[in-house]
Formats: sequence, structure tokens, C-alpha cells
Amino acid sequence: MKILVLNCGSSSVKYQLIDIDKNYPLAKGLVSRIGMSEAVLTHKPHDRPEVKITGEIIDHIVAIEYVISILLSPNHGVIKDKSEIGAVGHRVVHGGEKFPESVLINSEVMVELRNCIELAPLHNPHNIRGINACQKILLNIPQVAVFDTAFHQQMPKHAYIYGLPYILYKKHGIRRYGFHGTSHYYVSRRASELLKKPANEVNIITCHLGNGASMAAVKEGISIDTSMGFTPLEGLLMGTRCGDLDPAVILHVMAREELSLQEANTLLNKHSGMQGISGHSSDMRDIIQEAKEGHANSRLALDIYCYRIKKYIGAYAVAMGGMNALVFTAGIGENSPLIRERCCEGLEFLGIELDEGRNEEAIGVEALISKDKSKVKVFAIPTNEELVIAQETKKVLEVNTFLKDIVKGV
Ligand code: ADP
Repeated sequence: MKILVLNCGSSSVKYQLIDIDKNYPLAKGLVSRIGMSEAVLTHKPHDRPEVKITGEIIDHIVAIEYVISILLSPNHGVIKDKSEIGAVGHRVVHGGEKFPESVLINSEVMVELRNCIELAPLHNPHNIRGINACQKILLNIPQVAVFDTAFHQQMPKHAYIYGLPYILYKKHGIRRYGFHGTSHYYVSRRASELLKKPANEVNIITCHLGNGASMAAVKEGISIDTSMGFTPLEGLLMGTRCGDLDPAVILHVMAREELSLQEANTLLNKHSGMQGISGHSSDMRDIIQEAKEGHANSRLALDIYCYRIKKYIGAYAVAMGGMNALVFTAGIGENSPLIRERCCEGLEFLGIELDEGRNEEAIGVEALISKDKSKVKVFAIPTNEELVIAQETKKVLEVNTFLKDIVKGV
């Protein structure tokens, strides 16, 4: 079966068409600048060169129509008929407590997904737009929602309740949810395979370091804690997000700078993190370059970035009562030996001993980067959220077919 995986953002649609029987992507691509002048569709079939097409793409419906057309195109396509697409798997950022696992989308699920918009107003509306667009274009093809929050839904209560009046949790769902779940799931499972141990026999700390960044403590296969919270703002220092902060700071700044709620939101989400500290860039490559050139605030941004990751490593090692592996993934985790080295520096007492040569060589590939004698194995593992979404989609369809057969008495 071929599964179309979609990740719909505010002005972009990322896609992959995956042959799920072979766990293999037939084509992948990105539509960017939706709704702006000169939208761009970048498409890469597995067996031919990448193509780039520019044009006007006014909304997500048109974007997904373009995606389907290029998948069918005689020159760049990988399928001959729309009906070859067996299902669509959507990345949905927030599933709240309602969705602890992936779900087949129907009208009741859509109502619940709309209810979750309140929890993730910056992300969920675009995911829903993508689902609606597919319903219009692909008609009766089954669609499955796979949630970023789901993997963290087994966290114990002591890890997810904030020190606020408990009534706020009951009334408004104010609690820690965690994000990047499909990525933490994928790399932790892959690490247990590399350790040659079942997932339920190992403790793993996973570091997803992209523009957004989060860590998870995966104890015996279950995420028991993670650094992002009610929204993807909590935790590590990120490209443009502040991460952990005394909540009183924002009240103080709002009062002193006379900021509206919207302005405060933008300050914390778009102008903070490495962007805010360096004053130059949110991109780790720029920050590293500027730090090398002696730019003091870029150095400071790097210091804070790595220090905070180290603090979480310590916290999660304690939360799990020790660990077997530490994993780095996503743009920074997969590609930056410098950041990995700085995050592991001085952690020998925890059993973490990085191998300099292995670390330097591991760029964009899966690799063991610790010394053979290191008690804790350290890995760089490229994440593969699309594959998890396709596998989850297949699983949900199989369960639903099985249930239907039971009801029918087959
Ligand atoms: P997103 O969260 O948008 O999916 P990515 O996982 O693509 O982000 O990660 C983007 C980040 O990865 C950027 O900060 C970028 O600078 C960083 N990055 C990519 N390649 C390298 C590299 N070779 N060295 C350091 N950072 C890198």
C-alpha cells in the first residue's frame, strides 16, 4: 500500500509518498510560501533528480492539488492513478488528552480536533486545513491523524501537572503535554535496536534539536518526561523560542513595555532563544560561525544552549534511575559534532564518553559516537517522523478493518 504523509504548516505542506510494504519513500517534497507571491513546489522522486516549480498557490487545497498532480505527472510522478494512494497520514501537533494514540478521521474526530485548536492555535488550524483539503480532493480515501503529543501521554501525573491551582487543569486542560513525540519515539526505538535490547529493557534520553528543540526521558520504552510543556515553548533554548523562564518575567516585561497579549506571545515565540540572545540569527550554523569569529553574544547563546541540554540530561538520568543511551537527532543533533561534543563535555561521571573521531565523522548519518568503553552509548540518529506516521496510519487502518470484521461476524 502507498500512504501519503502530510505535514501542513501555516504556509507550507511537507509530503512523502511512502510504500509501506517496503518502508520506502517513493517521493518527497515541500510546497512553501502558500498564499504569498511566488509559491514554490520542490519535488524529489526516489529515482530522478529534484524539480522546482514556482507559481501562485493560494491555499492548502491548491497546494495539495499540486502535490497530487506532480505525483501523477508523466515526467516527475511515481504513480499512474490517484487510487494508488491507499490512505493519508497527517501530522497533527496537538491531540490533548483526547487522543493518546493515532486515530481514523471521521466527523466526530473532526469535532474533537477543532476543540484542540484552543490548545495549539498556532499549529492545529493548519493541520485541520490539510485534512479538509484532502477530503475535498481525495474524497473517500481514509485519513489518519498522528499526534505529536501522543507518545508523551503515558507520562506520570507528577511529571505533567504544573504548580498551579489544580482547578486550572480540570477546567482548561492546563498541564504539560510534550511535543515531537513521533521523533522521540522513532529515535528511541532505533536506539534500542542498535543496543540489541528490547525497548522495554532500556532507558534512553533523546535530544531532538531542530529549530524547535525538546528532550525526552524514555524509560523502558515509555516517555516518562519531556522538556516541552503546555505548548512547544517550554524547555530548551530554541531558534526563536525562549524555553524555560520564570513566569513572573513575562508579567513584568508586559507591564514595563506595555505589551499586548499578542505582542508578548510574539516576543516569546519569535524573537527570543538564539535569535534574541545573539541579536543576529536563529540558525545554528550562523551562531556557530559568529561564535568562531568572536561574536560575544553568539558565544553566550551557544553556552546557554548546551548548558540547558546538559541540565536536562542530568535531570532525566535521575528521573529514570540511570540510562543506557543518549541520542541526538534533527537538524542540529544530526549535523553538528560541535554541539554534541559540548553537550557531553564533563559528563564522564554519568558514564558518557564521546569518541572524538566518531563524533566528527557522524554528519547526517546514523552512528555510534561514544567510545567502546563508554557505559552510556551515545548515538546520532537521523529522525524519520514520516515513516512513523505512515506506519501508524497502516496500523490504524488494520485495527479498524479488524473491528469491522468482528462486528460483521467474519
Ligand atoms: P525544523 O525544526 O524546522 O524541522 P531542522 O530539524 O531542519 O528544523 O533543524 C534546523 C536547524 O538545524 C537550524 O538551526 C540549522 O542551522 C541546523 N543545522 C543544519 N545543519 C547544521 C550543521 N551542519 N551544523 C549545525 N547546525 C545545523
